[in-house]
Amino acid sequence: MTPPSLGELTEQLRRLPGVGPKSAQRMALHLLQKDREGAQRLGESLIRAARMTRSCLRCNGFTEDEVCGVCLDGQRDAKLLCVVESPADMLAIEATGMYRGLYFVLMGRYAALDGASPDDLGVSALLARVQDGLVAEVILATNFTNEGEATAYLLQQRLRSLGIAVSRIARGVPIGGELEYTDPGTVARALLDRQNLKGGQG
Ligand code: ZN
Repeated sequence: MTPPSLGELTEQLRRLPGVGPKSAQRMALHLLQKDREGAQRLGESLIRAARMTRSCLRCNGFTEDEVCGVCLDGQRDAKLLCVVESPADMLAIEATGMYRGLYFVLMGRYAALDGASPDDLGVSALLARVQDGLVAEVILATNFTNEGEATAYLLQQRLRSLGIAVSRIARGVPIGGELEYTDPGTVARALLDRQNLKGGQG
């Protein structure tokens, strides 16, 4: 008979992406059997991170302050604003070491089938963000998945009337590919080769 607290821990570990019942059980047993101190620290960091992190008022990414370090960095080029789906995608672009502009993190992607509305994505926050008088180009760096493409299209429509250049990262990233899982060289290339999106039909 599994002790209730162990059962509960296993159940909670299943929240993590890619963790099924077997691996959740293995993790829980490992922590209790071999790494009690680590288990304690893991629990404390979880609570701390969940309490301390919030959304940056400028880029919507994670921060512990009102505005994150990237947004506050005076060395960055405020004329460029790169729109990504998630903090992981932002890290993938940072890992290229060649992008010196700023970001906006959607914290999701537009999936009409999920019933998500554009406003769940913080589209209005993005529209407000790009009108700071400094942003000259918005680079759409959503993933090359169906949802990522739909999101890019939606954003392009919304941004069109604002008189700001809108570009899309190039398809160096494989179709269906997510920035998070793409090597930095390829991401860098996709950024360099970004295509200017003309108003066009819509
Ligand atoms: Zn920020």
